Amino acid sequence: MAFLELKNLQKSFGLNTVVKDFSLSVGAGEFISLLGPSGCGKTTVLRMVAGFETPTTGVIEIGGQNVTYAKPNARNIGMVFQAYALFPNMTVAQNVAFGLKIKGVPRSEADARVAEMLKLIGLPDLGGRYPFQLSGGQQQRVALARALAPRPNVLLLDEPLSALDAKIRVSLRNEIREIQKELGITTIFVTHDQEEALSMSDRIVVMYGGVAEQVGNPFEIYSRPRTQFVANFVGTLNTFEAKAVDGEKGVISLAGRQIALTEGGLAARKDEALSVALRPEALHLGRGSDDDILLPAEVEDVHFMGAIIRLKLNVAGTKVSLDTFNRSDAPPPSAGSTVEIGFAPRDLIVLQG
Ligand code: ADP
Ligand code: MG
Repeated sequence: MAFLELKNLQKSFGLNTVVKDFSLSVGAGEFISLLGPSGCGKTTVLRMVAGFETPTTGVIEIGGQNVTYAKPNARNIGMVFQAYALFPNMTVAQNVAFGLKIKGVPRSEADARVAEMLKLIGLPDLGGRYPFQLSGGQQQRVALARALAPRPNVLLLDEPLSALDAKIRVSLRNEIREIQKELGITTIFVTHDQEEALSMSDRIVVMYGGVAEQVGNPFEIYSRPRTQFVANFVGTLNTFEAKAVDGEKGVISLAGRQIALTEGGLAARKDEALSVALRPEALHLGRGSDDDILLPAEVEDVHFMGAIIRLKLNVAGTKVSLDTFNRSDAPPPSAGSTVEIGFAPRDLIVLQG
């Protein structure tokens, strides 16, 4: 059974409805990301769960209890914000103890809990420091310890990594996920960074314009996106104009070839225009497998990205990106040359809406 239930949440500020019919069941111990561009309503959803905003309509349940109108401190929720929300005039230990003090946890128990939390975040010896004496990454770890110290039922993280340097961001992703798993705490993580969401989450909710566009695990969101928006937002995409040949049998025509989709039928009339897409890594130079579709392409540009080389191609007038591993035994084709590229029908993504 779900531990956290959001049922048909709606939030309007005046005439502006910023969260629309948002429903989500979060299992106990699950790590969910809300992923979407700035302004799509992620923080508003989080603030409703925390109790800082009241839904215009809809219901929030935690552990089977209706908390839609409960005060924030009655919900037993821990929250971490984007950055620098520590109390500057308190030491690290005092910051972490803050929620315990409010709860009236006895001093000796609070001291032990603070030590336990500082150990959990890998900063056991920094309790006496002040926030200005810490790096940004250390400050966010302390913010996490402060949120976790009162042993909340739900952890809410609102873009906690977005103010940090790229390297720290990646290492903190892993740390947060490890701590979350170790504690088994039900977590909602807000981000506009698709890589963060894909690498950390059990499931992702892709949001756009206040609506949950798609909910799924990282594989489903990346490899089986259902809408144009989801497909574009979670990675690089090559889109081709295609046509339905036989909707029932799932046969389409693309770049002059007839292709049978492996997932079968389509809700499309004969000759209906379709948008189909391929990820850059689904395309390869030459034939990859027996059922590959092969197309001629002109190399327009070659980008070295390290382990990966991205070729910018022109395929019958369509600009296409192809990712190939950088191999020491085979230098990539040069700009201006003509190549043959291949892809498997199973990698085609048909986009609706
Ligand atoms: P995100 O976190 O995805 O960037 P937000 O939830 O912060 O998006 O905001 C969604 C929309 O709601 C934005 O257009 C924002 O301007 C608006 N909004 C958020 N809070 C308020 C408020 N208190 N009053 C009026 N409009 C608000
Ligand atoms: Mg926000």
